[in-house]
Amino acid sequence: MRRFSKAGAKVCSRFSKNNNCFQIFLRGTHSSVLSDLRLSLPERILSILFTKYPTMRFLLFWVLLTVSQISLISQTTYLHCGRVLPMTDTREQTNVTIVVENNRIARIEPGYLTPPPGVTAVDLKSKTVLPGLIDCHVHLEWEQSRSSYTERYTLNDTESAIRAVVYAERTLRAGFTTVRDLGGRGANIALRNAVNQGWVPGPRILTAGRVLSITGGHGDTSTGSREDLFDPPPGFEVGIADGPDACRAAVRHQVKRGADLIKVAATGGVLSMARDGRLPHYAEDELQTIVRTAADLGVSVAAHAHGDEGIRRAAVAGVASIEHGTFMSDETLLILKNKGTWYVPTLTAGWAVSDSAQFAPGFFPEVVREKAMGIGPKITETLGRAYKHGVKIAFGTDAGVFPHGKNNLEFQFMANAGMKPWDILLSATVNAAELMGMQGKVGTLGSGSFADIIAVDGNPLTDIRALERVVFVMKNGAVFSDER
Ligand SMILES: [Zn+2]
Repeated sequence: MRRFSKAGAKVCSRFSKNNNCFQIFLRGTHSSVLSDLRLSLPERILSILFTKYPTMRFLLFWVLLTVSQISLISQTTYLHCGRVLPMTDTREQTNVTIVVENNRIARIEPGYLTPPPGVTAVDLKSKTVLPGLIDCHVHLEWEQSRSSYTERYTLNDTESAIRAVVYAERTLRAGFTTVRDLGGRGANIALRNAVNQGWVPGPRILTAGRVLSITGGHGDTSTGSREDLFDPPPGFEVGIADGPDACRAAVRHQVKRGADLIKVAATGGVLSMARDGRLPHYAEDELQTIVRTAADLGVSVAAHAHGDEGIRRAAVAGVASIEHGTFMSDETLLILKNKGTWYVPTLTAGWAVSDSAQFAPGFFPEVVREKAMGIGPKITETLGRAYKHGVKIAFGTDAGVFPHGKNNLEFQFMANAGMKPWDILLSATVNAAELMGMQGKVGTLGSGSFADIIAVDGNPLTDIRALERVVFVMKNGAVFSDER
């Protein structure tokens, strides 16, 4: 074997001045080189085979090429885990090795396997290891601040996009390896593509592009502004749509631009300049058109909704998820339960706006401050009822309303609403993956799933706030942060 490689090296050096070494096999000059008297027995056999069956040269070439490429790409990591919550039927495993090959989990083996030469082992023996967390409601393009209401006139799209990159990285560092971005100016689509290309670090992103809203509704950022600054007024291309025809066009336009799902503002909202946050905005026929058009294009619909009537209309129309659901009645909760509609409560945003309204004078314009008061306690009470009724709950924070990277605060708020730790964990893993249509790929640790893996200090099943202490994040098989 050594002699063969020596001969190979000689052949290479002789020909590589002019061309690639592999081409020797292709040109047929190789047999004459191999007929050298110094050839070993295997080399002679190859030589005879090549002469008799010329196609074998091609076969060997492709085998060598494939093997060399596999060895270049293939990367294996062993994670030695003290405690694992795989979020599958097996609740908890202790003292195991997760074998990661490339970007997938190959298998989970009992005990701490000794890594073969060249394989890295990561010591997580004193940690709890979980699937990467999933946040079903973020806005990576912006972050609420005192200057938010003037930024729409001062910040250009490129600046907004660059800032979004920073927010995406913070989100990933907090242990969130997958998110749904529920609305921005459109940079969220570019951000998703940039992350997928590996240009910038960030979580896996499913994005809604721009929010669909009625004229003067929650997504109409021209509300409250001088009319001449928005002339002509925003139309379906930017998500402002009235009537079924415009709604149909708006859905198709967002999907054409690259949206993975549709976000609709079914009622007013807290942070927009409109007077009321609870009134229903879209009529039944508009919501039905949005849901049906989205379904025709293979995407789902997430509905922002605070008031009960708007929540009811959206659920009846068949949206996949109700976001916030602040003033949901028991009757409407039962509609969600019967239709299998997901509830994404976003407690952290509720508490953030309540606190700012109460304790930070001047943080919000007065029309917003009045709406923001008391939202946090109200959503908490609603989540408690939804949980008791058995409504399907998926984790979502509305990060951007509060600083990105603080998404983990939601866990404590969910516990305060009465949810048990295991159910909270399910909401941020298995449930969220199901809502996004990514079951088996993310949200569980098992053979074949993406190697999106985090480790925390402590045990979330006995102390939910352990999820605020993320010390290790692997996404797609690559270690992103390691602060053990
Ligand atoms: Zn939101």
